[in-house]
Amino acid sequence: AKRPYIVGNWKMHGTRSMLSEARAIDRAAERLMKAEVALAPPFTLLHAARKEADLIGIGAQDCHAAEGGAHTGDISAAMIRDAGAGFVILGHSERRADHGESDADIQAKAQAALAAGLNIIVCVGETEQERDAGKAEEIVTDQLVGSLPPCAESGEKVTVAYEPVWAIGTGRTPTVEDIAAMHGTIRGKLAEIYGDAAEEIRILYGGSVKPDNAAELLAVADVGGALVGGASLTADSFLGIVVAA
Ligand code: 13P
Repeated sequence: AKRPYIVGNWKMHGTRSMLSEARAIDRAAERLMKAEVALAPPFTLLHAARKEADLIGIGAQDCHAAEGGAHTGDISAAMIRDAGAGFVILGHSERRADHGESDADIQAKAQAALAAGLNIIVCVGETEQERDAGKAEEIVTDQLVGSLPPCAESGEKVTVAYEPVWAIGTGRTPTVEDIAAMHGTIRGKLAEIYGDAAEEIRILYGGSVKPDNAAELLAVADVGGALVGGASLTADSFLGIVVAA
């Protein structure tokens, strides 16, 4: 089996003073190579974080679908690559909610990112209302079909993150049974979309992953790692998750 993939999403947190956390995570990663470790700081820190860190992956949290042009304030996949980053998170529920990103928008971004040589982490997840209505699996599979690139030359370049919206930043998590069921559903859908290439695709769990629940969550069948928000902001707590992997 592949090494677990532990990714920190700093969201809109981080000024240059936080580069010391990235450095500390990178230094420890050397000892903790059981897991593959990566951080997604804000755009403004990408280049500096890449220079600060030798071993861990560095990625962005969004990109534009176009190669370039008159798009004030936006950042292309090629720019992210030029900053030294290797991947981009796409379709996070905060972007779907705050910026009205549709599955089609995310799919276009995913294709642009792959074309620019970036790996992608595509996020999916249901709201609490959708789960209560018994629609979680339908919502998530629709998001997968709509947001993932229809073909990928290799499953290695694609990661899926299952993040139930109601578990993000709330301290609540689904039961291990519910996570196992959803990851199994996602695995099945990926096989439909990509055939054999789907086996290479890791499926991360995200939503209130902390040092004290990481071992339990990461042991669930088909959980290939974690996408971590709040607990990735200090080296101490993030490494607490990495060691549990
Ligand atoms: P928290 O770990 O803060 O719940 O955030 C999860 C998340 O949204 C990572 O992308």
